[in-house]
Amino acid sequence: MNEPFLLSNLIDLQEIDNEITKLITKKSEGKTVLELKKLEQKYKEVTKAIAISKEAMGDYFSDKKDFDKKLLENENKLSTIEMKLQDTKLNASELQNYNLQKSNVQVLIEDIFKSIDLLNNNNNDELIEIENLENKLTSLMPKLVEISKMLQTEWKDIDTKISEQEQEKSNLISSFPDEIKLLYDELKSQGVEIIAAYKNDTQCGCCGVSLTSSEMDSIQESKFQQCPYCQGVLV
Ligand SMILES: [Zn+2]
Repeated sequence: MNEPFLLSNLIDLQEIDNEITKLITKKSEGKTVLELKKLEQKYKEVTKAIAISKEAMGDYFSDKKDFDKKLLENENKLSTIEMKLQDTKLNASELQNYNLQKSNVQVLIEDIFKSIDLLNNNNNDELIEIENLENKLTSLMPKLVEISKMLQTEWKDIDTKISEQEQEKSNLISSFPDEIKLLYDELKSQGVEIIAAYKNDTQCGCCGVSLTSSEMDSIQESKFQQCPYCQGVLV
């Protein structure tokens, strides 16, 4: 099977495989994907910091919710009263009654606003911290979207290149005799790093070990011209 044309094809096949491996690695370890991972990590950290801060302020948020609810109820009450006051057929006592109700509700609303202000002042530092974190999160978003889009385009290009290489590989392999195909797969599965290389006078082109001339001769005579040290094929 010392057919030099086919054995040199092994080098071409290996080059295609190396290129495919390089492309696959680029998908998971390229500059853009690493940048996206870093951004996502940062986004996660800020989100977590916000959640922790909010959890620590549980009492604040529950009080705030109660006040907001009361505020809404009283504002609704106020607009109902104001609507009733629009009625031109009200008698003097009704008018007085609604105006009294109105001023009572207005006092209540003012009190609620004061309570909210007090609550916010008492938690000012924590609220500023949360606001800063939320701003940070918002400012991370456009960059995240931009890098994700960029990565999608890059991956699409890489996938196109991979399928081109795969096509080239399958064309090449289809010209191989079965036993060469088997040899290649076997060496690959054994983890042989360089499967085929051009020989030189004194060294294995695959693993670089120095070879005696008698070793070189026996390699030449072997079925697939394989180096006894690394199993690589010397073309
Ligand atoms: Zn070798």
